[in-house]
Formats: sequence, structure tokens, C-alpha cells
Amino acid sequence: MNFKERGLLIVLSGPSGVGKGTVCRALREEEDNNLQYSVSATTRKPREGEVEGVHYFFKSREEFERMIEQKELLEHAEFVGNYYGTPVEWVRETLESGQDVILEIEVQGAFQVKELLPEAVFLFLAPPSLQELRNRLIGRGTESEEVIKQRLLVAREEIELMDAYDYVVTNDEVDKAIDRIKAIVTAEHCKRERVASLYKKAMMEVI
Ligand code: 5GP
Repeated sequence: MNFKERGLLIVLSGPSGVGKGTVCRALREEEDNNLQYSVSATTRKPREGEVEGVHYFFKSREEFERMIEQKELLEHAEFVGNYYGTPVEWVRETLESGQDVILEIEVQGAFQVKELLPEAVFLFLAPPSLQELRNRLIGRGTESEEVIKQRLLVAREEIELMDAYDYVVTNDEVDKAIDRIKAIVTAEHCKRERVASLYKKAMMEVI
């Protein structure tokens, strides 16, 4: 039997500083998965070492607002004073080609995707504790104390929204978090409601 399944859209969300970026980077480096990583647009200034088109597409507020107007974004949100959003065209084409796509986005954006594409798989990456999250934000050394405080306040609100997700993955150790995500993706590909209709259709063609 030969059929092509549409790729899965995986939304990895959770509080700032929980390690979404680290987990995504590590997943990206593994060659044995079919995951493609969406590059977001943002109005945030690049951090040291960040590369245009690899980490983000860096935009002015005017450019970003034009993208919103032209409906070029699947979702977008304002987070601690900057816009972030997912370019829709690339996501659509990649899913249609049968590859899985992972979005690493904050919670407001995840809720917008859920409204539009409820069949996507929603993963909440959770910190082992809020204290640990605080330590990680300070350890990263990229934000001022005021911004860290704002990010922690947002994190507290975000954790309350966990109920809307399909899975909660605790990021106690990156390797373990990655194993859990890979197991979830494998299981989702085997879900009856995703594959049964494809099998039935393919059988009709064979018999
Ligand atoms: P950072 O400034 O640390 O790179 O990202 C800040 C937050 O924005 C993180 O929680 C990150 O996951 C989120 N983010 C990154 N890209 C997007 C996006 O395209 N859409 C939304 N809604 N959030 C994003």
C-alpha cells in the first residue's frame, strides 16, 4: 500500500526561558527525524550570534504590520514589547510535502493556531519549577532584571493555560525532553483518526 500522509503540525509552547529554543535546536541537530523548523518573523533586535533567516526574520514594526495586513502570518502575538509571528506560506507548503513542521511559539500564538488548526498537536514545555525558570533566565544573561521580571509574570499566567494543551513535557533535562517529544510525534502518526481514512482509501485503489 502506498499513500502519502500530510505532515503533522506540532506546536511547542511554554513560558519564556523554559528551554524551547534549546530543545528545538537539539531536535534540529538530530538527523533521524522528519521535523522541519519554522523560522518566525520578529521586531525584536537580534541577539549576539543570531542570524537573519536562521533564528528569525528580523523586521521593523512597519514591515511586520504590513505582513499582518497582507495575511502573511499564520499567527502573531505581541510579547514583552515586540511582535512575533509565523510566516504561513512556508508552513502550508512544508505540511503538504508530507514533512512535519514544528512551531516554537508563545502561548497567545498557540491559542490562535488551535482556533485555526485544531488537528495540530499542542505540546506545553514546562519548567521543573518557577524558581528554576528564574535561574535559567538570569543564567542566560541576555535580558535586564526588569525584562526578566516581566517574563516571569507572563510565565505564571502561561502555566495556568496548560489545560488547553494535548501534552505536557517537563524540561528537566534536554535529552529526556527530546525523547518525550519524539515519542509523542511517533504516537501521533499512529493515531487511528489520522491514518484510518488513508488506509481505507488506499485499499479501495488496490481491490
Ligand atoms: P525570544 O525573544 O526569547 O526569542 O522569544 C520570546 C518568545 O516569543 C518565546 O516564548 C518564543 O517562543 C516566542 N516566539 C518566537 N517566535 C514566535 C512566533 O512566531 N509566534 C509567537 N506567537 N511567538 C513566538
